[in-house]
This record gives sequence, structure tokens and C-alpha cells, in this order.
Amino acid sequence: METSIEGVVESAGGPAPRVEPPAAAGAARTEAGGSGAAATATAPEPAAVPPATLSPSRAGDFMQCPLLYRFRVIDRLPEKPSEAATRGTLVHAVLERLFDVPAAERTAPRAKALVPAQWDRLRESRPEVVELFADDPDGERLARWLAEAERLVERWFSLEDPSRLEPAERELFVEAELESGLRLRGIIDRVDVAPTGEVRIVDYKTGKAPRPQYTEGALFQMKFYALVVWRLKKVVPRRLQLVYLGSGDVLTYDPVPADLERIERKLLALWDAIRLATETGDWRPRPTKLCGWCDHQAHCPEFGGTPPPYPLPVRPAAAGAGG
Ligand code: SF4
Repeated sequence: METSIEGVVESAGGPAPRVEPPAAAGAARTEAGGSGAAATATAPEPAAVPPATLSPSRAGDFMQCPLLYRFRVIDRLPEKPSEAATRGTLVHAVLERLFDVPAAERTAPRAKALVPAQWDRLRESRPEVVELFADDPDGERLARWLAEAERLVERWFSLEDPSRLEPAERELFVEAELESGLRLRGIIDRVDVAPTGEVRIVDYKTGKAPRPQYTEGALFQMKFYALVVWRLKKVVPRRLQLVYLGSGDVLTYDPVPADLERIERKLLALWDAIRLATETGDWRPRPTKLCGWCDHQAHCPEFGGTPPPYPLPVRPAAAGAGG
């Protein structure tokens, strides 16, 4: 299941520059409306800005539930940290930092030993995660949680051999503008580049691999990144690789240009739908079993809630727009 790019070294250089993740999709960017959001002459300066970029996570939000996308990107409602997501952040940090040590020292014990220090760093950078264990005075739950993080780190060594890898990039922030003006962005966990120039994009997941019928959805994020890399570097990545630490599986896919053209068309259609919803304020809830993990039920009409006042100017929906 491993690849022809295994163990490649291109840049033996130091750690890739760590790039600040975007606070929220489209946030912190004031490029007014990206492409075509109506600039109403009399509109007061909005407290929120229309989305101007798309990331895999936010694209996934919109596909799951347009109202969830609105809550996260337009309203930017706060969300509670979760144990699973925080553990994912911790494990990612450990895997990234392990490449700071010499290749021969990249062992499972060394990686597990990084967990406490990375947890300390995470608490410093995101103090809100401390509240996860506020009701755990004797620290038992925290100890179990950290032990599970160590197990996930250890499992990585049954899937890849970091002593044979020298990533070209880690935690790489990428952004590319398509011809349409749509800007795509994201953070790639790891990029390996073979001496031949072949590129492998790797993403770590702390959950379990999806069932076969759901792999297409899992690969969406990877094809998104591949499209961005293709647009930026003019190279179609040779391999996309998802490493599932929760179940000990590796899912790979070798994309061809037609795959990436297809994903581009899909993203453009998605972006058209997001722009329409942004301009009309028509964000529909789409209830699924995933609502159980949604932090916003109190604001969701499907659960008897009321969304906050829409913070952007609204143009009336066109006649026949189905509203
Ligand atoms: S509770 Fe469900 S339907 Fe409502 S916003 Fe969240 S994901 Fe969407």
C-alpha cells in the first residue's frame, strides 16, 4: 500500500515555516465581496464581511448544511472545543514536531514523549481547551485522553516510517486563485517531494477510515489540495494519501488532471451557491444525524431556535428563485 515516493528527500532543510491558520474561512480578508457581492451604495459598513475564500472545511460545512456554514463563516458564532478535535490538534502537532529531530531518533517512544510538552503548548496558545477538563479535578479523564493521544501517535509508526521521510513541507498554508477569481486555501499536513519531482500530499486523520462507499467524500479535501497545488506549482500531485490513525489504515489516490478539473467545476458551483445565499440571506438548514455534533442547535430553526439577525446587506431573492 505504500508508495513509490516513500522515503524521499528533497529538502532536508529545517522545519517549514509555520503559517498561521486562517481564523475562519473568509475572515480577516477584507477584499470586498470577492467576486460580485452587491456593493450597495447606501449600505452601512457591515460588521461582517462576505466570504471571499473557500477552504475544504468550509466547503464541507456548506455541503453538509448551508445554515451551519452561515453560523461559522458569516455570524462566526463561537463553538466549544471538543475532546476529539483538540486531541486531533495535539496529535498533529506531535507528528509535525517529530521531524525536527534527526531521522534516526524518530521513534515511537520519542514521539510519545513529545505529547506532554505539546499539550502544554496547546494550552498556552488556546487557553479555552483547559475547560475541557475543568470538571476533572483528579486528572483521571485527562490522563486517559493523553494516553489515547499517545496510542494514536504510536499507531502512526505501523503505517509510515518517519525515519525514512524528509518532508518538503509541514503544515503548509496554501492559497491559489482560480481563473474565475475564486480563492481556495487550506493547510496541508505534509508534502513529500521525490527526487524526480513527484509530489505526495499527506493528511493525518485521528479518526477511523471511512467505509468504501464514503471514500469519495474523504478524498474531496485531498483533491481540493491537489487542485491548489496544481494551480500554484503547475504540477499534478502524484499521490494523495490519507493516514487514519484511529483505525490504522492508509487511503491513497493517484489523481489525473480530469479529476482536478472535475473538482474545480464542483467548487465553482458550490461557490455560486454560497454567493447566492450570501446575497439573499437564504441559508437553509439541512438536518442530518450530524446535527448531534452541531454547536448551534439553540440558533437553528430545526431545533426550535432562531438565527441571530443577518449581519450582511440582503438583496431580494429573484422571482422564481424558489423561495
Ligand atoms: S443543527 Fe443541524 S440543521 Fe441546524 S445548523 Fe446545525 S447542522 Fe444545520
